[in-house]
This record gives sequence, C-alpha cells and structure tokens, in this order.
Amino acid sequence: MVGSGAGAHRLRADIEISGVPQGVGFHPYVYRLARACRVDGDVSNVDGNVLIRASGTRSAVEEFLFRLSRQSPATPVSIRSRLVDGELPQGFTIGLDHGGRREVSDDRAVCEACLADLWDPYDRRFGYPFTNCADCGPRASILTGVDWDRRNTTMESFRLCSGCAAEHADPSGRRYHAEPVGCPKCGPRLTWTARASTVEKAAPALDGAVAALDDGGVVAVKSVGGYRLFADAADIGALARLRDFDPRPPALLMPDVDTADALIGITDGERALLQGTDAPIVLVSTVHSAVGDVIAPGVGEVGVQLPHTPLLHLIAAALDRPLAFITGPRPITDDDEAASVLGLVADGILAHDQRIAMAVDDAVVRADPGGVTRLQRAGRGHRPRVNGQRPTGTEPVQRHHAQVVATAAEHDVPGPFLGVAYDALGPGGDGTYWGGEVLLAGYTDFMRVGRFAHAPLPGGEAALDHPARLALGYLFGLESLGGQAIDPELTAPLLARFEPSLIAEVRRSVDGSSRASSAGMLCEAMAAVLGVHDVNSYRGEGSRLLAGTVGPDDGDAPALPWRLVRRDGLWVYDPAPTITGALTALAERVPVGRIAAAFESTLIEVTLAMIADVARRTMIQAVCLGGSVFGHRRLALRMLDALTEQGFGAFLNSATAPGQDTVDYGRDAVADARDRRERR
Ligand SMILES: [Zn+2]
Ligand SMILES: [Zn+2]
Repeated sequence: MVGSGAGAHRLRADIEISGVPQGVGFHPYVYRLARACRVDGDVSNVDGNVLIRASGTRSAVEEFLFRLSRQSPATPVSIRSRLVDGELPQGFTIGLDHGGRREVSDDRAVCEACLADLWDPYDRRFGYPFTNCADCGPRASILTGVDWDRRNTTMESFRLCSGCAAEHADPSGRRYHAEPVGCPKCGPRLTWTARASTVEKAAPALDGAVAALDDGGVVAVKSVGGYRLFADAADIGALARLRDFDPRPPALLMPDVDTADALIGITDGERALLQGTDAPIVLVSTVHSAVGDVIAPGVGEVGVQLPHTPLLHLIAAALDRPLAFITGPRPITDDDEAASVLGLVADGILAHDQRIAMAVDDAVVRADPGGVTRLQRAGRGHRPRVNGQRPTGTEPVQRHHAQVVATAAEHDVPGPFLGVAYDALGPGGDGTYWGGEVLLAGYTDFMRVGRFAHAPLPGGEAALDHPARLALGYLFGLESLGGQAIDPELTAPLLARFEPSLIAEVRRSVDGSSRASSAGMLCEAMAAVLGVHDVNSYRGEGSRLLAGTVGPDDGDAPALPWRLVRRDGLWVYDPAPTITGALTALAERVPVGRIAAAFESTLIEVTLAMIADVARRTMIQAVCLGGSVFGHRRLALRMLDALTEQGFGAFLNSATAPGQDTVDYGRDAVADARDRRERR
C-alpha cells in the first residue's frame, strides 16, 4: 500500500460519525480496518459521536475512508470527514470516552464467526449456547446502566476466567470489549426443569428440552429478551396447547433459510430480512404451501424466523424441523413468573442463570415490493418510534389524524395532504366512533371530508370482537342514507345461521348503542356476512380470515355495488348496496374468496371516489394512508397501486407498526408541529 509519487504524499483526515449505537463492535472494527489499511491515529467518542483521526499516505487514507463508509457493522446516520494538516504518531489506538451518550444497540443475531466456534469440536466454546463477540450477542436486553460496559450488564456477576479476560483485553481479536463474553468455564449455564427434576449440566439440559420437543411436548425457553414457548410445528396436539395459551397464530422457527424456502417459498427480500442482525419474524405468504393450514389456518400468511442465538441454533439443529413458537401476551423475563405462568402450559423449562434486564420481543415485519420493509409489530431492532424530544403540547390529537400524520411525517410529505384512515375505532369528538375517514389534513389540524356510513356497535365497543353482532348491527341499524335497504329475502339464510336470542338482543340494543363509521368494523361484519367467522379470539381475527379466503387469482374481482351520498358537507359511503351485492353473490354460489376480493375492490373504488372531488378542488395530489385495515397486505398494495395509477402520490407508513406505535408517533408529530406554530 505504501507507494511512490502522489500515493506517498501523507495526509490526515478527521472523521466524525453520528448515529452509531454502542455495542455493535464499531471501535474494534475501526481498529482492524485502520491496521489493514496501514493508517495511524485513534478512535474515540466525543459528544455522543464517534471521532476518528486517521493519517497515512493519501492512498491509504482514501482506502480507509472508502471501506469505512461501505463495510460498517452498523448503518451510521452520517459520516463527515475533512482533511487537515499534520501527522499522527505511529500506530492506532482506541481512545477514551469524552462524554455524550450513544444509545446501546439492540440484541444482535449470532455472527458467522461465533457460529463457527459453536460447531468446532476443537474450540473451547464448542456447543456453548451463550457464545458471543463484539459483533453479536445480547445488548439492550441485558443492560442495567446507561453505558455499554460489562459492569452495566447482567453479566456483571459472572467473573471472567483468564482465557475470556485475555480475549476481552485483546484489541486485535473480535472479543475485544465484547462485554457479555463468557465460556463454559465462566459464563451462564443452562438448566432444564421437567416436572419435578432439575438438571444443571449444559448438555443434558439441552438434551432434556430437545427430547421433550421431540415427544410432542411444549417447552418454555429463556431466550433473548424473554421466554418463548416452543412446540413441534407438525404436532396438532402441541399446537392446540399453544393456542390455549395465546389464540393468535404462532410463528415458525425454521432450522435454516433453505428449509424455509423449500417449505413455504420465500422471496429474495424475505430472505434478506430473515438473515438480518435484528432477526425479525417475517410474515410470509402461505398461498403456495400447505404449512399455513396447520399453523395459521385461513390467515394466508405465517411468521417465519431463523435461529438467532447459539441456543436456538443448537435446538433447531438437534431437531432439524420447523418449530412453532409464541411469546404470549407479553414477554416474561422473570424466572419465578415463568415457572408459575409458563410452567402450567409447558412440559419443561429450559432456562439459564443470567438475568434478563429488559423485555424485548421479536419485531414482526413484511417485505413489500420495491424493497420496502413494513413494520407490523415493534420489537428487537425496530423500537417504537418517537420524535426525539417529547413535545409539550397537551391539546388532544384525534387518533385518525395522528395515523395519517404519522405516514406523512415518515415520508416527509408536506401538508396539506389527503389522509385516508381505515382503522378499528377511535373517538371522533362528535359523539360517534370514527375509523373510515377521509381527511384534508395538515400537521396541526384537519378537516373531515368523507366517511363511511355509521352503524351500531351492539352492546358497546366489545362488539368489535364479535363479527356476527356487527353484521346484525348493519342489517338492523345501518345509517339511513336514502338508498334501498338490504333485501330481507337475501338476509334470511344469514339470519337462519344465528341464535334467535342473539338476533333478538341485537334488535333490542340497536337504538341505544354507540355508533361507528369504521372501515375495520365493516370488514369484521363482512366476515360474518360471508360466513367466514362469527366470534373473534383475538382483535382483527375476522378481517384477517376474510382476507385469507382470497385466492391468488381473485385479485381482479370487479367491485360490488356501492353508493356515495352527500350528507352535511361530507361524502358518505353507503355500504347497503355492497352488503346486498355480497349476499346476492353468496346466493349465486360465487366462491367466498372471490366475493372477499370484490369487497376489497369496492373499498378501493369508494376511496378513489371519496377523494376525487376534494383533490380536484384543492389540487392536492398526496394521499397518506393509515390505520389497521392497511395491515392487510393485498388491500394496502392494491390501494397504493390504484392511487398511483390515478396520478396521486400515495404513501403508507412502514417504520411504525399499525396500532398504538403509529398513533403515538403521529401524535408526537402533531404536538411538535403545534408547538412550532405557537413559537412563531
Ligand atoms: Zn459473534
Ligand atoms: Zn471464560
């Protein structure tokens, strides 16, 4: 690398890097890179940023800069460098911390080098389930203090053996300052508690858990950030026990990415997400496989994950087949709580003696076309989004305004824009619940320009989990908008399906019930109208199963009839003709999936019609979508396509998970914008 001529001219660069979290092995990486490029200097932390001083020949410094910006173990927010005069002493050092805080990284999937150690019979960490290094392993979930230092982690109580201490202090190795470093001699150990017996030695503990899973048992595993419940994905009895604990469909832990591809079929985008250091659960379509019928019947997609800790690699390799797993309503981190709560469900508990400091669940993502990763549930590697400083504003922010602002803020769409919020329920401020709303919105305020017709929530908000009740509510109490009522002859077969007592109860309660103009509610009701699902065991189940009936060839189904009327200055969608159309198609024995697809086409046509008028008058071309209804991938993608085709700029949130995460992010953005307006 040391050449002659221009290349031999020596220079120095000062490089400032922001947005690198602690605990990703960045400093050791810079150290190794500097040595490889023959660059002198140092790396340190200044005011929360990483500062690198690098000197050497021009070509050496240029190569260092080039590789630094392209091969970093973390994606920095920004890299700024400037050339300055002067040279630095020979050698490269990792310097001290000069104040400022950098956030500690989320837990990271085990790296290739540590996996090689895990499977190497001559390595001292052969088969050791807690192998890690400066590039990988637990981070945020074991952090007890602020800075990334072993004393501030739950590894503090494990005294390093001489071998691990030497690795921890060696700047040329990949375990230099790997704070959770340990080995079979000095690190955490597995325990297996089956019924009454406890086994402590590592290998028999693992064997016990593997044997239990092999026998069709349910096993609780203390994983990174909390316990999970595992079972053989092909064992119907074990799956039923998981479902008893949490009715939502489990995810699949695949032994490796090729097995995932062979069993379900994954795209390149899904493959890349599965192999990421954040190891999310990736929602994969099951349209082309039978796996979904067992794991998540009727839903049309299943969550897939790859082993991301040495322990999960050991379990997956021993069984070499897909395992179903759930977290439960929330991650359990405490060993006693796990024993009392999960011990009731599981045949045994595979735990260890390292404390979990913070609960971290798996993030759930989808790979959408165009390389878009759409977050479906916040978790490891995808924390709930907040806009830095919490704004001071106390003025309430309407839920659906917040949802469309969240999308606008994520995509830097300037206001005013058109907001389409299709959601479950949110108080509208006018005595009804909203959820099927078209808004003319800015960041501080909005105006409602369109909505779905309102219908009763028979018996209150809980009706949202009772599609049959909602369907009856539409039949008996849909807002009257001057069109034709739903034909009683068509509703007869539907009514014959329900208990007379339920019908009588809904009839009685219609007048006194709260009312909602919600798109999510209409989707749930449609699940019951089409005979797909009557009572939910989790929120949104009806519309998920309804979407799951749509086959790969149904996407072009023409829309059902619909009607748009002008009421009190708003465009109002009257779904009576749509419900009549669905019942007619059902009577004509059109396949349910085809009708469900036609219903989606209807929602798209209605949306285009509702925004057309205001778009023409205001010349606004940006449409921001938000709300839980767009958690349904096909509907979301079709809506974006249809809007784009009409010449709109169409946007949907991807960095926040539908639901509270998005609402919080949007509320912060609104409060922030109002703050700025007031200061002006
Ligand atoms: Zn590693
Ligand atoms: Zn050790």
